Amino acid sequence: MAKRIVLLGAPGAGKGTQAKMLIDKYKIPQISTGDILRKAVADGTPLGKEAKVIMDSGGLVSDKIVLGLVEERIKQPDCKTGFILDGFPRNTAQAEALDKILSGMDMPLTIALNIDVDMNDLLKRLTGRRTCKSCQQMYNIYFSAPKKEGTCDKCGGVLFQRDDDKEATIKKRLEVYTQQTAPLIDYYSKKNIMKTVMGVGSINDIFNKVTAVLG
Ligand code: AMP
Repeated sequence: MAKRIVLLGAPGAGKGTQAKMLIDKYKIPQISTGDILRKAVADGTPLGKEAKVIMDSGGLVSDKIVLGLVEERIKQPDCKTGFILDGFPRNTAQAEALDKILSGMDMPLTIALNIDVDMNDLLKRLTGRRTCKSCQQMYNIYFSAPKKEGTCDKCGGVLFQRDDDKEATIKKRLEVYTQQTAPLIDYYSKKNIMKTVMGVGSINDIFNKVTAVLG
């Protein structure tokens, strides 16, 4: 059966990491609105320029922009066998719009999976996060530090901190999560497709729990 998955969880819960591992296991694409938006920012497109200001502040980019991106992506042939939505939907309006798009395609969601992580842990994960400029490998200065500070173990590239991982932005992102995204747990519970795993332990431990739930 096709897996059409929504990954829920606060910023820093590890959705992106798990999604990347799930791509390999299930051979279905990850659709990360954050990644799509960051690419638009890096490419300097008009959309990217508009999005960057909002992303750096920790707020949400407009539903209209994000929905347009997702709809276009989800209609690609590689999504016919399933997909993993990561970082979308972020509020009830997006969830409702997604349901509409998917029911029009006769491809309803099969599961919403919440990766649950304690707030204190999230703060460390986010403020400690560093990414390689060259190969995008991720590190955390508290939990998985590179051998040499500021340098990628894999390719020797320079490590940087995402603009939206700065402390003020992080506070705002967590606030936005609590107010706008966390209510989606209720939304999908009512549809009987909500599952939760605790996002603690090693990345592999969490992956085992995630795949046990996804089947
Ligand atoms: P992420 O990598 O998913 O944490 O996304 C980084 C930033 O991109 C967020 O803080 C938002 O500003 C923006 N963003 C990503 N996904 C969405 C979405 N579904 N709706 C609105 N804004 C989004």
